[in-house]
Amino acid sequence: MEKKNCPSCNERLSLDARFCSNCAAKQPVPKKDPCACCGKELQEGWKVCPFCETSLTGKKPRLWTSGITLGV
Ligand SMILES: [Zn+2]
Ligand SMILES: [Zn+2]
Repeated sequence: MEKKNCPSCNERLSLDARFCSNCAAKQPVPKKDPCACCGKELQEGWKVCPFCETSLTGKKPRLWTSGITLGV
């Protein structure tokens, strides 16, 4: 299981903890943006959507440009 540290007291908490079990500090909720292509929930650190292979690194997916013929 993945863990995170409380930003206030460094207590080890489970990733989905909303409050620290040690000092009761409110925990920042990791933002999970859905995939822009398939809408599936993504996790932090992913570079490619494992569901539709869309690149998540900020570049436009090749999918949208590969089929377009320019200058015709
Ligand atoms: Zn704490
Ligand atoms: Zn996707």
